[in-house]
Amino acid sequence: MSSDCPFCGIVAGEIPGRIVGENDHAVAFLDANPMAPGHTLVVPRNHRERLADATSEETQAVFSLVHGLAPAVEAAVDADGATVGVNDGSVAGQEVPHTHAHVIPRFAGDGGGSIHVAAGSRPELSDAKLDEIASEIGGASNDE
Ligand SMILES: [Zn+2]
Repeated sequence: MSSDCPFCGIVAGEIPGRIVGENDHAVAFLDANPMAPGHTLVVPRNHRERLADATSEETQAVFSLVHGLAPAVEAAVDADGATVGVNDGSVAGQEVPHTHAHVIPRFAGDGGGSIHVAAGSRPELSDAKLDEIASEIGGASNDE
């Protein structure tokens, strides 16, 4: 636990939070500053700054909650869909340094965009470059 982390505070019950789901390794609660009604955050119980800092077990626990909660969140606020994602690192927009998955309910005509807009404009990449990147990723993957 990090003493100045608001998400650790919510997990520990020291900061009020609207808990909507939990399991052995993860907790879900409503975002205090929601982008939409029902906006839910899912965090590992342990303080893990980035997604890759969490263990495989913790990551599975987070996404297990996401899987179960996405339809429940949509139903609760009568949403038409949801955007699910992780801002992994400050450059990606991560604001609290305790990794968290977002479930953001989406509504027809809400004016939001798809997750594709998150990275800006699309790069021009040759087949050779795509092959090289795929090789680099495959060589670096660390499935536990
Ligand atoms: Zn924390």
